[in-house]
Amino acid sequence: MAFDSASASDHVRPVRRHGRARAAALLAAGALALAACGPGGSGASPGTGTPSPGTSPTGGGDGYPTGSITIVVPFAAGGPTDTVTRLIGEPMGAELGVQIIIQNVAGAGGTVAAGQVAQAAPDGYTVLMHHIGMSTAPSLYPDLEYDPLADFETIGLVTEVPMTIVGKADLPPDTLEELVTYVTDNIDTVTYANAGVGAASHLCGLLIEQAMNVDLTEASYDGTNPAMTDLLGGHVHFMCDQTTNTTEQILAGEIKGYAVTTRDPVASLPDLPVASEAGLDIEVSVWHGLYVPDGTPEAVVQRLTAALQVALQDENVIEQLGNLGTAPVSQDRATPEAHTQLLQEQIELWRPFLTAPSPSPSQ
Ligand code: ASP
Repeated sequence: MAFDSASASDHVRPVRRHGRARAAALLAAGALALAACGPGGSGASPGTGTPSPGTSPTGGGDGYPTGSITIVVPFAAGGPTDTVTRLIGEPMGAELGVQIIIQNVAGAGGTVAAGQVAQAAPDGYTVLMHHIGMSTAPSLYPDLEYDPLADFETIGLVTEVPMTIVGKADLPPDTLEELVTYVTDNIDTVTYANAGVGAASHLCGLLIEQAMNVDLTEASYDGTNPAMTDLLGGHVHFMCDQTTNTTEQILAGEIKGYAVTTRDPVASLPDLPVASEAGLDIEVSVWHGLYVPDGTPEAVVQRLTAALQVALQDENVIEQLGNLGTAPVSQDRATPEAHTQLLQEQIELWRPFLTAPSPSPSQ
């Protein structure tokens, strides 16, 4: 399937995949996600930033902010989205002169957190960090209780993170080509880990299934961190997740790195080939952005955008993201306009891929 959006295709290149495999994968992942999502999985912890002046939020744009701001992360602590949020939370808090609280509200591929923020007061004190999953949720969750475009104001894009295909340390294959053969030959026993239905790792898994024309058995978690824990423990066979949480483990030899899923090689992982040139024709990277509930005053949105732009120029943020295989977006993309445009493009880009009717089993 061809897609006509050049900028959207910079991030992901889905094509219509084998519908039967897709349906089976979604069902398998959904069942496991339900089992994995308990009532826990959420919690707040203070980020860093200068202390709050201690006054109550007023709800208006004047004098904003007057108290601490909570950034809700839709996946478990310690994962890529959490890592990116904590990195920019510190300089954003310093710039805004208030404390930034990071709250992890994991579950259902990020939709639990997004639904919570959609219902929050539109006063700039509850902010959502989300990734590519914001654009795929409407296709994956027919009963979604929020509209990503109508129920939020965008603040700006943050970063784009490459994905990596990785396996547990003692997985026999040493190359991507060997991994493809191994997975094909052992399809009944191999397990693929993801961070929930609609998580970037789940989307990457769908692309892998399509490229290989297989149904993967998926184990769904509330975020990359718990998924990685099980990969490190050898309880699952392989996964595809962001460099922010795979680089150190690959370089330390704790897991096997097979390929990056970007168009170009990733400098922090020079030994990994590009997947599409090494035996698996997929391409995906994960964009992150900040959101506030619809109805938030324009002055508040502008204040948050300005703080985001300052944070993205912070030397520590640039260095840390560089070490993890990524970089802040350019300043012109850390804006509501660029963010909304990308969100719109990505919703349209993913919809046909994720909602294609399943062909009959004989097809
Ligand atoms: N990397 C996860 C994903 O696959 C999310 C996370 O834990 O940040 O979407």
